[in-house]
Amino acid sequence: DRSVCAPLPVLGRDVLVPLVTGGEAVYAALDYAASAPALQRVWDDVAAYAPYYGSVHRGAGYLSQLSTDLFENARSTVSDFLGCRTDDQVVFTRSTTDSLNLLAAALPQGTRVFVFETEHHASLLPWERRADVSVTYLNAPRTPQQAVDTLEQALAAREPYGPALVCVTGASNVTGELWPVRELAAAAHAHGARIVLDAAQLAPHHPVDLAELDVDWVAFSGHKLYAPFGAGVLAGRADWLLAAEPYLAGGGASRKVARRTDGGVDVEWHDSAARHEAGSPNVIGAYSIASACKALTEAGWDTLVTREQELIDSVRAGLAEVPEVRVLSLFGDDAPRVGVLSFVVEGWNSSHFAAALSAEYGIGVRDGLFCAHPLVRTLLGSEPQEPGECGAPEAAPGERSLNAIRVSFGAGTPDEHVERFVRAVK
Ligand code: PMP
Repeated sequence: DRSVCAPLPVLGRDVLVPLVTGGEAVYAALDYAASAPALQRVWDDVAAYAPYYGSVHRGAGYLSQLSTDLFENARSTVSDFLGCRTDDQVVFTRSTTDSLNLLAAALPQGTRVFVFETEHHASLLPWERRADVSVTYLNAPRTPQQAVDTLEQALAAREPYGPALVCVTGASNVTGELWPVRELAAAAHAHGARIVLDAAQLAPHHPVDLAELDVDWVAFSGHKLYAPFGAGVLAGRADWLLAAEPYLAGGGASRKVARRTDGGVDVEWHDSAARHEAGSPNVIGAYSIASACKALTEAGWDTLVTREQELIDSVRAGLAEVPEVRVLSLFGDDAPRVGVLSFVVEGWNSSHFAAALSAEYGIGVRDGLFCAHPLVRTLLGSEPQEPGECGAPEAAPGERSLNAIRVSFGAGTPDEHVERFVRAVK
């Protein structure tokens, strides 16, 4: 309702102006890349399950068995959604960050990891924490082909020939650009390396099929895939996962525990996904993810991708009419992307700009470095600064931006939200 969204005084970034009319929120949350609103279907499924909530695994009661079924069925729904192969495992985690840390903990000793500096911190940082793993950071490529060539060269130079892992994002959380996942996977495999796909931004917007992309693992988060917070997935090759020590030690991960005669304790760990799911699992989280996977599959990827592309085209066309706007991109303005787009506005401090979009137009975007500091600095051509948490220091008005503004949306975003955003920027 435009009358409700007429410009209000700027109240500052911490004030969420409650733009509500007749009980209906008209605030346009265009920050899907951070967290997307959960689908009504997901809330409905969770509400339908709520009265039957029970403990999972080993509970003898009827409700326990029902919950256990829901949890394990969620695993097979996710497995179908991801096109898992017979030797793949689906592990429920807390998030993409958790999934990638789990994989980092499970790497064989001496693994060499190859990662582009352009990654989100969740896929950039977990590997260095292993003292017995070495990490090669690859420079930001300027074309998809350059990404493949850079990786090829780095892998070809790898000595000695031991376990290796490539970690790559499917779609950038900053530029929204799609990375050449299939080609990178082929390059990795040609050099005897494995590859993990950070699909946090790809999975909500495009089908992710492990077999078809030929990637070894994939990680994503429920809260970006139209499910609530708190659950994520790591799916892929069982061998490294099941050879590794459990991510957490505790009940659920252990099959048998016994005192030894010398006084110590012997443990037999599960050789299934449960090995890395110690403790009481987040059943609602897993169930919500499965519900979102079903909803997306039923809506149909062709429909979702086509609809989202309309929104992307409309935002890009709108921003192109504003000469002060510079859209950030590694691969060029016409590179295919998901509904994620970052930009700076000449003469504007990005934080103030984002605050004004919220306070004056009821539009929620994000400003900062988006937990991808090296990438954003490359895109802005700025020197390293002392940032706050996933943020950046503010440039004085008129100075070159030290951070950017990000708008992100999904197939369900109403046209009006996107139109209002473009109008507000203009
Ligand atoms: N990878 C990418 C590409 C992301 O965009 C994000 C979230 N911004 C993450 C990983 C981390 O996801 P989470 O915060 O859910 O762990």
